[in-house]
Amino acid sequence: MSKFQNAPGTFDLLPPDSAAFLGVREAMTAPLRAAGYDYIETPTFESTALFKRGVGESTDIVTKEMYSFTTRGGDDVTLRPEGTASVLRAALQANLIRGSLPVKLWYSGSFYRYEKQQRGRYRHFSQVGAEALGAEDPALDAELLIIGDDIYRGLGLTEYSLLLNSLGDQKCRPVYREKLQEFLRGLDLDEETRKRAEINPLRVLDDKREAVQRQLTGVPLISDNLCEECRAYHEEVRRLLTAAGVKFLDDPKLVRGLDYYTRTTFEYVHSGITGSPTAIGAGGRYDGLSEELGGPSLPSVGWALGVDRTVLALHAEGREVAAGDQLDVFAVPLGDQAREVLFELVTTLRRSGVAADFGYGSKGIKAAMKAADRSGARYALVLGERDIAENIIQIKELATGEQESVSFTDIVTTIQEKLK
Ligand code: AMP
Repeated sequence: MSKFQNAPGTFDLLPPDSAAFLGVREAMTAPLRAAGYDYIETPTFESTALFKRGVGESTDIVTKEMYSFTTRGGDDVTLRPEGTASVLRAALQANLIRGSLPVKLWYSGSFYRYEKQQRGRYRHFSQVGAEALGAEDPALDAELLIIGDDIYRGLGLTEYSLLLNSLGDQKCRPVYREKLQEFLRGLDLDEETRKRAEINPLRVLDDKREAVQRQLTGVPLISDNLCEECRAYHEEVRRLLTAAGVKFLDDPKLVRGLDYYTRTTFEYVHSGITGSPTAIGAGGRYDGLSEELGGPSLPSVGWALGVDRTVLALHAEGREVAAGDQLDVFAVPLGDQAREVLFELVTTLRRSGVAADFGYGSKGIKAAMKAADRSGARYALVLGERDIAENIIQIKELATGEQESVSFTDIVTTIQEKLK
Protein backbone atom coordinates (compact mmCIF):
# COMPACT_ATOMS: atom_id res chain seq x y z
CA MET A 1 0.00 0.00 0.00
CA SER A 2 1.24 3.50 -0.74
CA LYS A 3 1.03 6.19 1.89
CA PHE A 4 -1.26 8.24 -0.36
CA GLN A 5 -5.01 7.94 -0.78
CA ASN A 6 -7.49 9.47 -3.19
CA ALA A 7 -8.95 12.81 -2.12
CA PRO A 8 -12.25 12.81 -0.15
CA GLY A 9 -15.32 12.73 -2.37
CA THR A 10 -13.47 11.06 -5.23
CA PHE A 11 -13.05 7.43 -6.21
CA ASP A 12 -10.84 5.38 -8.46
CA LEU A 13 -12.44 3.50 -11.30
CA LEU A 14 -10.83 0.09 -11.12
CA PRO A 15 -11.21 -3.10 -13.10
CA PRO A 16 -13.41 -5.04 -13.32
CA ASP A 17 -15.99 -2.31 -12.40
CA SER A 18 -14.37 0.19 -14.75
CA ALA A 19 -15.74 -1.86 -17.67
CA ALA A 20 -19.29 -1.01 -16.55
CA PHE A 21 -18.47 2.68 -16.69
CA LEU A 22 -17.09 2.35 -20.20
CA GLY A 23 -20.17 0.39 -21.20
CA VAL A 24 -22.52 3.03 -19.81
CA ARG A 25 -20.56 5.85 -21.42
CA GLU A 26 -20.69 4.07 -24.76
CA ALA A 27 -24.44 3.43 -24.36
CA MET A 28 -24.93 7.14 -23.71
CA THR A 29 -22.81 8.46 -26.56
CA ALA A 30 -23.60 6.04 -29.41
CA PRO A 31 -27.25 7.19 -29.80
CA LEU A 32 -26.12 10.83 -29.91
CA ARG A 33 -23.52 10.14 -32.58
CA ALA A 34 -26.20 8.31 -34.56
CA ALA A 35 -28.56 11.29 -34.29
CA GLY A 36 -26.32 13.95 -35.81
CA TYR A 37 -24.54 15.22 -32.70
CA ASP A 38 -20.84 16.07 -33.17
CA TYR A 39 -18.19 15.65 -30.50
CA ILE A 40 -16.90 18.68 -28.62
CA GLU A 41 -14.19 18.76 -25.97
CA THR A 42 -13.53 21.86 -23.92
CA PRO A 43 -10.89 22.43 -21.22
CA THR A 44 -11.63 21.13 -17.73
CA PHE A 45 -11.05 24.60 -16.33
CA GLU A 46 -12.35 27.97 -17.49
CA SER A 47 -12.39 31.51 -16.21
CA THR A 48 -14.37 31.72 -12.99
CA ALA A 49 -16.40 34.57 -14.44
CA LEU A 50 -17.85 32.24 -17.11
CA PHE A 51 -19.41 29.94 -14.51
CA LYS A 52 -20.58 32.83 -12.35
CA ARG A 53 -22.48 34.09 -15.38
CA GLY A 54 -23.32 30.78 -17.00
CA VAL A 55 -24.44 28.86 -13.92
CA GLY A 56 -25.68 31.85 -11.94
CA GLU A 57 -24.30 33.85 -8.99
CA SER A 58 -27.14 32.82 -6.69
CA THR A 59 -26.94 29.06 -7.28
CA ASP A 60 -25.53 26.59 -4.75
CA ILE A 61 -22.97 25.55 -7.33
CA VAL A 62 -21.47 29.03 -7.59
CA THR A 63 -21.85 30.08 -3.96
CA LYS A 64 -20.67 26.86 -2.30
CA GLU A 65 -19.41 24.20 -4.66
CA MET A 66 -16.86 25.53 -7.11
CA TYR A 67 -13.20 24.57 -7.11
CA SER A 68 -11.84 28.03 -7.83
CA PHE A 69 -8.27 29.25 -7.62
CA THR A 70 -5.93 31.95 -8.81
CA THR A 71 -3.15 30.74 -11.08
CA ARG A 72 0.52 31.70 -10.72
CA GLY A 73 -0.12 34.22 -13.48
CA GLY A 74 -3.00 35.78 -11.56
CA ASP A 75 -5.94 34.36 -13.57
CA ASP A 76 -9.07 33.35 -11.68
CA VAL A 77 -10.08 29.92 -12.93
CA THR A 78 -12.51 27.20 -11.86
CA LEU A 79 -12.68 23.46 -12.48
CA ARG A 80 -15.84 23.03 -14.53
CA PRO A 81 -18.88 22.19 -12.39
CA GLU A 82 -21.07 21.48 -15.46
CA GLY A 83 -20.82 21.45 -19.24
CA THR A 84 -23.33 23.81 -20.82
CA ALA A 85 -21.56 27.11 -20.12
CA SER A 86 -18.28 25.82 -21.59
CA VAL A 87 -19.91 24.32 -24.68
CA LEU A 88 -21.83 27.49 -25.41
CA ARG A 89 -18.74 29.63 -24.75
CA ALA A 90 -16.72 27.50 -27.21
CA ALA A 91 -19.45 27.50 -29.87
CA LEU A 92 -19.81 31.28 -29.67
CA GLN A 93 -16.04 31.84 -29.63
CA ALA A 94 -15.48 29.68 -32.74
CA ASN A 95 -18.65 31.00 -34.34
CA LEU A 96 -19.92 27.46 -34.93
CA ILE A 97 -23.37 28.97 -35.17
CA ARG A 98 -22.72 30.87 -38.41
CA GLY A 99 -24.08 28.06 -40.60
CA SER A 100 -27.30 26.14 -40.48
CA LEU A 101 -28.92 25.71 -37.09
CA PRO A 102 -29.26 23.90 -34.79
CA VAL A 103 -25.65 23.00 -34.10
CA LYS A 104 -25.82 19.70 -32.22
CA LEU A 105 -22.91 18.77 -29.94
CA TRP A 106 -22.10 16.04 -27.42
CA TYR A 107 -19.44 15.78 -24.76
CA SER A 108 -18.21 13.39 -22.12
CA GLY A 109 -15.94 14.10 -19.21
CA SER A 110 -15.17 14.92 -15.61
CA PHE A 111 -16.89 17.61 -13.56
CA TYR A 112 -16.10 18.99 -10.13
CA ARG A 113 -18.28 20.22 -7.30
CA TYR A 114 -17.31 20.65 -3.68
CA GLU A 115 -20.31 18.75 -2.32
CA LYS A 116 -21.05 16.99 0.90
CA GLN A 117 -20.21 13.42 0.08
CA GLN A 118 -22.98 10.84 0.04
CA ARG A 119 -23.97 7.91 -2.12
CA GLY A 120 -24.15 9.12 -5.71
CA ARG A 121 -22.87 12.59 -4.85
CA TYR A 122 -19.19 13.04 -5.50
CA ARG A 123 -16.73 15.89 -5.79
CA HIS A 124 -15.42 14.47 -9.03
CA PHE A 125 -18.01 12.87 -11.28
CA SER A 126 -18.62 12.01 -14.87
CA GLN A 127 -21.30 13.17 -17.29
CA VAL A 128 -22.25 12.65 -20.89
CA GLY A 129 -24.01 15.72 -22.25
CA ALA A 130 -25.75 16.95 -25.37
CA GLU A 131 -26.53 20.50 -26.44
CA ALA A 132 -28.60 21.57 -29.46
CA LEU A 133 -27.88 25.24 -30.14
CA GLY A 134 -29.91 27.73 -32.11
CA ALA A 135 -33.38 26.34 -32.66
CA GLU A 136 -36.71 26.81 -31.02
CA ASP A 137 -38.58 23.71 -32.05
CA PRO A 138 -40.53 21.39 -29.75
CA ALA A 139 -39.34 18.45 -31.84
CA LEU A 140 -35.76 19.23 -30.79
CA ASP A 141 -36.70 19.14 -27.10
CA ALA A 142 -38.56 15.91 -27.78
CA GLU A 143 -35.55 14.45 -29.62
CA LEU A 144 -33.32 14.86 -26.58
CA LEU A 145 -35.98 13.61 -24.19
CA ILE A 146 -36.57 10.52 -26.32
CA ILE A 147 -32.85 9.78 -26.77
CA GLY A 148 -32.31 10.09 -23.00
CA ASP A 149 -35.18 7.73 -22.34
CA ASP A 150 -33.98 5.25 -24.98
CA ILE A 151 -30.52 5.29 -23.38
CA TYR A 152 -31.83 4.37 -19.93
CA ARG A 153 -34.24 1.80 -21.26
CA GLY A 154 -31.56 0.38 -23.57
CA LEU A 155 -29.34 -0.12 -20.53
CA GLY A 156 -32.14 -2.14 -18.99
CA LEU A 157 -33.30 0.37 -16.35
CA THR A 158 -36.98 0.20 -15.49
CA GLU A 159 -37.31 1.89 -12.10
CA TYR A 160 -36.85 5.47 -13.15
CA SER A 161 -39.27 8.25 -14.00
CA LEU A 162 -39.05 11.15 -16.38
CA LEU A 163 -40.36 14.32 -14.72
CA LEU A 164 -41.39 17.11 -17.07
CA ASN A 165 -42.32 20.75 -16.71
CA SER A 166 -42.35 24.04 -18.59
CA LEU A 167 -40.91 27.16 -17.02
CA GLY A 168 -42.52 29.61 -19.43
CA ASP A 169 -40.58 32.33 -21.21
CA GLN A 170 -39.52 35.97 -20.86
CA LYS A 171 -43.15 36.97 -21.29
CA CYS A 172 -45.08 34.80 -18.85
CA ARG A 173 -42.38 33.88 -16.35
CA PRO A 174 -41.87 37.35 -14.81
CA VAL A 175 -45.63 37.64 -14.23
CA TYR A 176 -45.68 34.23 -12.57
CA ARG A 177 -42.56 35.06 -10.54
CA GLU A 178 -44.29 38.09 -9.01
CA LYS A 179 -47.34 36.02 -8.20
CA LEU A 180 -45.20 33.35 -6.58
CA GLN A 181 -43.22 35.90 -4.56
CA GLU A 182 -46.40 37.41 -3.26
CA PHE A 183 -47.53 34.00 -2.07
CA LEU A 184 -44.15 33.18 -0.50
CA ARG A 185 -44.02 36.49 1.40
CA GLY A 186 -47.11 35.37 3.30
CA LEU A 187 -45.44 32.18 4.60
CA ASP A 188 -43.54 31.46 7.79
CA LEU A 189 -40.06 30.90 6.35
CA ASP A 190 -36.59 31.06 7.89
CA GLU A 191 -34.28 33.93 7.04
CA GLU A 192 -32.31 32.09 4.34
CA THR A 193 -35.42 30.81 2.56
CA ARG A 194 -36.97 34.25 2.75
CA LYS A 195 -33.90 35.63 1.03
CA ARG A 196 -34.08 32.89 -1.59
CA ALA A 197 -37.71 33.79 -2.22
CA GLU A 198 -36.57 37.29 -3.17
CA ILE A 199 -33.62 36.32 -5.39
CA ASN A 200 -34.67 32.96 -6.74
CA PRO A 201 -38.33 32.27 -5.80
CA LEU A 202 -38.79 29.22 -8.06
CA ARG A 203 -36.07 27.44 -6.09
CA VAL A 204 -38.27 27.52 -2.99
CA LEU A 205 -40.67 25.12 -4.74
CA ASP A 206 -37.78 22.68 -4.89
CA ASP A 207 -37.14 22.84 -1.13
CA LYS A 208 -37.20 19.27 0.17
CA ARG A 209 -37.99 20.18 3.81
CA GLU A 210 -41.34 19.04 5.09
CA ALA A 211 -41.92 22.32 6.97
CA VAL A 212 -41.60 24.24 3.70
CA GLN A 213 -43.51 21.79 1.52
CA ARG A 214 -46.43 21.79 3.98
CA GLN A 215 -46.87 25.51 3.50
CA LEU A 216 -46.81 25.25 -0.28
CA THR A 217 -50.34 23.86 -0.54
CA GLY A 218 -52.18 26.16 -2.90
CA VAL A 219 -48.98 27.77 -4.23
CA PRO A 220 -49.47 29.23 -7.72
CA LEU A 221 -47.98 26.82 -10.27
CA ILE A 222 -46.25 27.78 -13.49
CA SER A 223 -48.35 25.21 -15.37
CA ASP A 224 -51.45 27.35 -14.66
CA ASN A 225 -49.67 30.54 -15.66
CA LEU A 226 -48.13 29.83 -19.06
CA CYS A 227 -48.76 32.20 -21.96
CA GLU A 228 -50.48 30.80 -25.04
CA GLU A 229 -47.22 30.25 -26.99
CA CYS A 230 -45.56 28.42 -24.11
CA ARG A 231 -48.63 26.29 -23.49
CA ALA A 232 -48.81 25.27 -27.17
CA TYR A 233 -45.07 24.57 -27.26
CA HIS A 234 -45.25 22.39 -24.17
CA GLU A 235 -48.29 20.52 -25.43
CA GLU A 236 -46.41 19.69 -28.62
CA VAL A 237 -43.41 18.35 -26.66
CA ARG A 238 -45.77 16.19 -24.61
CA ARG A 239 -47.59 14.99 -27.73
CA LEU A 240 -44.31 13.98 -29.41
CA LEU A 241 -43.18 12.08 -26.31
CA THR A 242 -46.46 10.21 -26.11
CA ALA A 243 -46.30 9.38 -29.83
CA ALA A 244 -42.79 7.97 -29.28
CA GLY A 245 -44.01 5.82 -26.40
CA VAL A 246 -42.01 7.73 -23.78
CA LYS A 247 -43.68 7.75 -20.37
CA PHE A 248 -43.39 10.94 -18.34
CA LEU A 249 -44.90 12.57 -15.28
CA ASP A 250 -45.92 16.22 -15.26
CA ASP A 251 -44.21 17.86 -12.32
CA PRO A 252 -45.22 21.52 -12.01
CA LYS A 253 -42.79 21.99 -9.11
CA LEU A 254 -39.75 20.92 -11.12
CA VAL A 255 -37.77 24.13 -11.52
CA ARG A 256 -34.49 25.72 -12.37
CA GLY A 257 -34.10 29.00 -10.66
CA LEU A 258 -32.45 31.13 -13.27
CA ASP A 259 -34.00 33.46 -15.78
CA TYR A 260 -32.22 32.06 -18.81
CA TYR A 261 -33.81 28.63 -18.29
CA THR A 262 -37.02 28.68 -20.27
CA ARG A 263 -39.82 26.36 -21.23
CA THR A 264 -38.97 22.64 -21.23
CA THR A 265 -37.26 21.38 -18.10
CA PHE A 266 -36.89 17.75 -17.05
CA GLU A 267 -35.20 15.19 -14.86
CA TYR A 268 -34.81 11.44 -15.05
CA VAL A 269 -35.01 10.26 -11.44
CA HIS A 270 -34.27 6.86 -9.92
CA SER A 271 -35.31 5.71 -6.46
CA GLY A 272 -32.78 2.95 -5.94
CA ILE A 273 -29.71 5.08 -5.27
CA THR A 274 -30.48 6.87 -2.00
CA GLY A 275 -33.98 5.63 -1.26
CA SER A 276 -35.57 8.87 -2.42
CA PRO A 277 -35.79 9.95 -6.06
CA THR A 278 -32.35 11.06 -7.23
CA ALA A 279 -31.62 12.61 -10.61
CA ILE A 280 -29.62 10.35 -12.90
CA GLY A 281 -29.94 12.90 -15.70
CA ALA A 282 -31.41 16.34 -16.21
CA GLY A 283 -31.78 19.09 -18.74
CA GLY A 284 -33.90 21.69 -20.39
CA ARG A 285 -34.12 24.79 -22.53
CA TYR A 286 -31.90 27.76 -21.92
CA ASP A 287 -33.07 30.30 -24.47
CA GLY A 288 -31.55 33.24 -22.60
CA LEU A 289 -28.08 31.89 -21.80
CA SER A 290 -26.27 32.97 -24.97
CA GLU A 291 -27.23 36.59 -24.41
CA GLU A 292 -26.19 36.25 -20.77
CA LEU A 293 -22.72 35.34 -22.08
CA GLY A 294 -22.66 38.29 -24.47
CA GLY A 295 -23.71 36.30 -27.54
CA PRO A 296 -26.66 36.70 -29.91
CA SER A 297 -30.11 35.33 -29.24
CA LEU A 298 -29.65 31.57 -29.47
CA PRO A 299 -32.52 29.44 -28.19
CA SER A 300 -31.06 26.09 -27.16
CA VAL A 301 -31.80 22.89 -25.32
CA GLY A 302 -29.61 20.24 -23.73
CA TRP A 303 -29.17 17.55 -21.11
CA ALA A 304 -26.50 15.95 -19.01
CA LEU A 305 -26.64 12.34 -17.88
CA GLY A 306 -24.65 11.26 -14.82
CA VAL A 307 -22.47 8.26 -15.61
CA ASP A 308 -21.69 7.42 -11.96
CA ARG A 309 -25.30 7.60 -10.84
CA THR A 310 -26.48 5.58 -13.81
CA VAL A 311 -24.04 2.81 -12.87
CA LEU A 312 -25.40 2.94 -9.29
CA ALA A 313 -28.97 2.76 -10.63
CA LEU A 314 -28.05 -0.30 -12.69
CA HIS A 315 -26.51 -1.97 -9.63
CA ALA A 316 -29.64 -1.10 -7.62
CA GLU A 317 -31.76 -2.92 -10.20
CA GLY A 318 -29.36 -5.85 -10.26
CA ARG A 319 -28.47 -5.23 -13.89
CA GLU A 320 -25.21 -6.39 -15.39
CA VAL A 321 -23.50 -3.82 -17.52
CA ALA A 322 -21.24 -4.63 -20.45
CA ALA A 323 -18.27 -6.77 -19.53
CA GLY A 324 -14.75 -5.68 -20.37
CA ASP A 325 -12.96 -6.38 -23.62
CA GLN A 326 -12.53 -10.09 -24.27
CA LEU A 327 -9.08 -11.44 -25.04
CA ASP A 328 -8.89 -14.04 -27.80
CA VAL A 329 -5.57 -15.61 -26.91
CA PHE A 330 -3.00 -15.61 -24.13
CA ALA A 331 0.50 -16.73 -25.11
CA VAL A 332 2.48 -18.83 -22.62
CA PRO A 333 6.20 -19.17 -23.42
CA LEU A 334 8.19 -21.97 -21.80
CA GLY A 335 11.87 -20.97 -21.94
CA ASP A 336 13.86 -18.12 -23.43
CA GLN A 337 13.75 -19.25 -27.03
CA ALA A 338 9.98 -19.71 -26.88
CA ARG A 339 9.66 -16.29 -25.30
CA GLU A 340 11.33 -14.66 -28.29
CA VAL A 341 9.28 -16.60 -30.85
CA LEU A 342 5.95 -16.09 -29.03
CA PHE A 343 6.48 -12.40 -28.43
CA GLU A 344 6.86 -11.96 -32.19
CA LEU A 345 3.79 -14.12 -32.78
CA VAL A 346 1.69 -11.99 -30.39
CA THR A 347 2.61 -8.88 -32.38
CA THR A 348 1.66 -10.62 -35.63
CA LEU A 349 -1.64 -11.81 -34.15
CA ARG A 350 -2.49 -8.32 -32.91
CA ARG A 351 -1.69 -6.87 -36.31
CA SER A 352 -4.12 -9.41 -37.82
CA GLY A 353 -6.92 -8.27 -35.53
CA VAL A 354 -6.64 -10.94 -32.83
CA ALA A 355 -6.87 -9.66 -29.23
CA ALA A 356 -3.79 -11.17 -27.62
CA ASP A 357 -1.78 -10.94 -24.40
CA PHE A 358 1.51 -12.47 -23.31
CA GLY A 359 2.87 -14.15 -20.19
CA TYR A 360 5.41 -11.58 -19.02
CA GLY A 361 7.96 -12.14 -16.28
CA SER A 362 9.72 -15.42 -15.78
CA LYS A 363 7.02 -17.72 -14.52
CA GLY A 364 6.87 -21.48 -14.32
CA ILE A 365 4.28 -23.31 -16.39
CA LYS A 366 1.78 -23.51 -13.51
CA ALA A 367 1.80 -19.80 -12.71
CA ALA A 368 1.77 -18.97 -16.42
CA MET A 369 -1.31 -21.15 -17.06
CA LYS A 370 -3.03 -19.56 -14.07
CA ALA A 371 -2.37 -16.13 -15.61
CA ALA A 372 -3.85 -17.39 -18.89
CA ASP A 373 -6.98 -18.59 -17.06
CA ARG A 374 -7.37 -15.30 -15.20
CA SER A 375 -6.97 -13.27 -18.39
CA GLY A 376 -10.38 -14.43 -19.60
CA ALA A 377 -8.89 -15.35 -23.00
CA ARG A 378 -10.56 -18.06 -25.05
CA TYR A 379 -7.35 -19.85 -26.02
CA ALA A 380 -3.91 -20.28 -24.51
CA LEU A 381 -1.03 -20.71 -26.95
CA VAL A 382 1.69 -22.74 -25.29
CA LEU A 383 5.18 -23.05 -26.79
CA GLY A 384 8.09 -25.07 -25.38
CA GLU A 385 11.60 -25.91 -26.64
CA ARG A 386 10.45 -29.23 -28.07
CA ASP A 387 7.53 -27.61 -29.94
CA ILE A 388 9.97 -25.21 -31.57
CA ALA A 389 12.13 -28.09 -32.73
CA GLU A 390 9.04 -29.79 -34.21
CA ASN A 391 7.68 -26.55 -35.65
CA ILE A 392 4.37 -26.90 -33.76
CA ILE A 393 2.47 -25.00 -31.09
CA GLN A 394 -0.17 -26.10 -28.57
CA ILE A 395 -3.59 -24.48 -28.59
CA LYS A 396 -5.64 -24.98 -25.45
CA GLU A 397 -9.27 -23.95 -25.23
CA LEU A 398 -9.39 -22.58 -21.70
CA ALA A 399 -13.07 -23.20 -21.00
CA THR A 400 -12.93 -26.92 -21.90
CA GLY A 401 -9.26 -27.73 -21.38
CA GLU A 402 -9.18 -29.30 -24.86
CA GLN A 403 -5.73 -29.10 -26.41
CA GLU A 404 -4.33 -29.73 -29.88
CA SER A 405 -1.02 -29.24 -31.70
CA VAL A 406 -0.98 -27.09 -34.78
CA SER A 407 1.78 -26.43 -37.27
CA PHE A 408 3.45 -23.17 -36.25
CA THR A 409 3.31 -21.87 -39.82
CA ASP A 410 -0.50 -22.11 -39.84
CA ILE A 411 -1.14 -20.66 -36.42
CA VAL A 412 -2.49 -17.23 -37.44
CA THR A 413 -5.01 -18.65 -39.92
CA THR A 414 -5.96 -21.44 -37.50
CA ILE A 415 -6.73 -18.92 -34.75
CA GLN A 416 -8.66 -16.71 -37.14
CA GLU A 417 -10.70 -19.72 -38.27
CA LYS A 418 -11.47 -20.71 -34.69
CA LEU A 419 -12.57 -17.19 -33.79
CA LYS A 420 -14.98 -16.85 -36.70
P1 AMP B 1 -26.98 18.86 -12.96
O1 AMP B 1 -26.06 19.68 -13.77
O2 AMP B 1 -26.85 19.12 -11.47
O3 AMP B 1 -28.40 18.87 -13.44
O4 AMP B 1 -26.46 17.36 -13.11
C1 AMP B 1 -26.76 16.54 -14.20
C2 AMP B 1 -26.54 15.11 -13.79
O5 AMP B 1 -25.19 14.90 -13.38
C3 AMP B 1 -27.36 14.71 -12.58
O6 AMP B 1 -28.62 14.28 -12.96
C4 AMP B 1 -26.52 13.61 -11.97
O7 AMP B 1 -26.80 12.40 -12.60
C5 AMP B 1 -25.12 14.02 -12.30
N1 AMP B 1 -24.49 14.70 -11.14
C6 AMP B 1 -24.59 16.00 -10.75
N2 AMP B 1 -23.86 16.25 -9.65
C7 AMP B 1 -23.28 15.09 -9.30
C8 AMP B 1 -22.39 14.68 -8.25
N3 AMP B 1 -21.95 15.53 -7.33
N4 AMP B 1 -21.99 13.38 -8.21
C9 AMP B 1 -22.43 12.49 -9.13
N5 AMP B 1 -23.24 12.81 -10.14
C10 AMP B 1 -23.68 14.09 -10.24
